[in-house]
Amino acid sequence: MLERRTKIVATLGPATDADGMLDRLVSAGLDCARLNCSHGSHDDLRRRAAAVRAAADRAGRPLGLLFDLQGPKLRLSGDVEEQMVAVGDRVTFSASGTPGAIKVEFDKFAALVTERSQIVIGDGVPRFAVERLDGEDVVARAVSPGPLSARKGINVTYARPELPAITEKDVADLALACELGGDFIALSFVRSAADMEQLRELVTGHGSRARLIAKVEKIEAYEALDEIIDASDGLMVARGDYGVEAGVARVPLMQKDTIRRATQAGKFVITATQMLESMIQAPEPTRAEATDVANAVIDGTSAVMMSAETSVGAYPFESVTAMATIALAAEESPVIHGRARPIKGEDTSRAVMRAAVDLADELDATALIIPTASGGGARICAKYRKRRPIIALAHEETIAEQLTLEWGVYPTIMDTAESVDDMIESALTTARDFAGLPSGSRVVITSGRRTGTPGATNLVMVREIP
Ligand code: PGA
Ligand code: MN
Repeated sequence: MLERRTKIVATLGPATDADGMLDRLVSAGLDCARLNCSHGSHDDLRRRAAAVRAAADRAGRPLGLLFDLQGPKLRLSGDVEEQMVAVGDRVTFSASGTPGAIKVEFDKFAALVTERSQIVIGDGVPRFAVERLDGEDVVARAVSPGPLSARKGINVTYARPELPAITEKDVADLALACELGGDFIALSFVRSAADMEQLRELVTGHGSRARLIAKVEKIEAYEALDEIIDASDGLMVARGDYGVEAGVARVPLMQKDTIRRATQAGKFVITATQMLESMIQAPEPTRAEATDVANAVIDGTSAVMMSAETSVGAYPFESVTAMATIALAAEESPVIHGRARPIKGEDTSRAVMRAAVDLADELDATALIIPTASGGGARICAKYRKRRPIIALAHEETIAEQLTLEWGVYPTIMDTAESVDDMIESALTTARDFAGLPSGSRVVITSGRRTGTPGATNLVMVREIP
């Protein structure tokens, strides 16, 4: 407790269904479980969501539950015969099934493609440059070699916005995510702020307060990053598909820049995909993987994520353990690059929270204690990436769960109190018992003049733990 500040997300799957495995992952440091809606049935999602809630109860600390929507993913048809493509080969892609063409499962495929577009198959190869449109068909020439086969994913770079942001499958998955009380909902292949606004409307319509995550995995998304950050509660640096679209060489700077800009805006950011890839089959990470996780931490990421490593890998427990150990060691770095800089002209509650952060630092306080109705106060503190632990005392489970991805924030539940004085006394003892703060240690605590009111914090106090 109060050691590692970077949060850990693990994708659940068949490998985490094993008896007792989820408890082991939680004990190894899991903060948030990701359910990938691209795989598994609704029954699987229900069963795994219930398992996460039960594991959190057993552990006595909140766990985040993240539903990841598949979004508009294009695929080759199931009839495509396996074949190798060489550089220079000309291939016709067709939605209508023109003889001799490669069939694509999206009837407006030709309308998507522009002159600038490249068509990328699977994890990055083969890759085609578009030559011309031939009615409903797209004629393209291979610029890198590789295999074509049935059901492979297709990425179209610089596509026209013909694809819906949210598919019928997503609508159904989203309804379930809201029903199951998902704390976070991530949308794949986001292109613009409008895509996120559409998601928010649907989520709000279900009466859910889930925090919404934009996955940055398209070139267009990165080009529209600021507006997407504004429209989202958090970001995911989705290195898999971004690497497919933009090329792997463009991934590292996108990662660093996205982390910096999201953090400055006060939004959390998850760095995802292939962080410990070799651990799908091995109990130890490579040096390169350890360095990659450490670099993401030093970039200032809020959280690091595992996909296949935990969902289908042979070593889910070892993966979470490795991630936690590497992140903790990397946090000794004297600089965390992504931290936010204070801005001029902040509103009162932001300025008060920043003052509390600075005061805790100045006094070398043991912890910063933030009673919070909406979670907003804790989020503001997190973005400065100070090492001081931020103990967030929420009044509702959902709010505590939604703080599980915030850097350096340790959320728990506290009852509301009658008066401000009662609230402060009870916050001090709750924080002490939850985090094991020694009696007599100095802390900085914030409060509002009324209890339980979002955005009303205007009191900062230095106190000793009773
Ligand atoms: P995915 O997203 O695992 O849903 O594809 C992450 C990524 O593309 O990196
Ligand atoms: Mn993806």
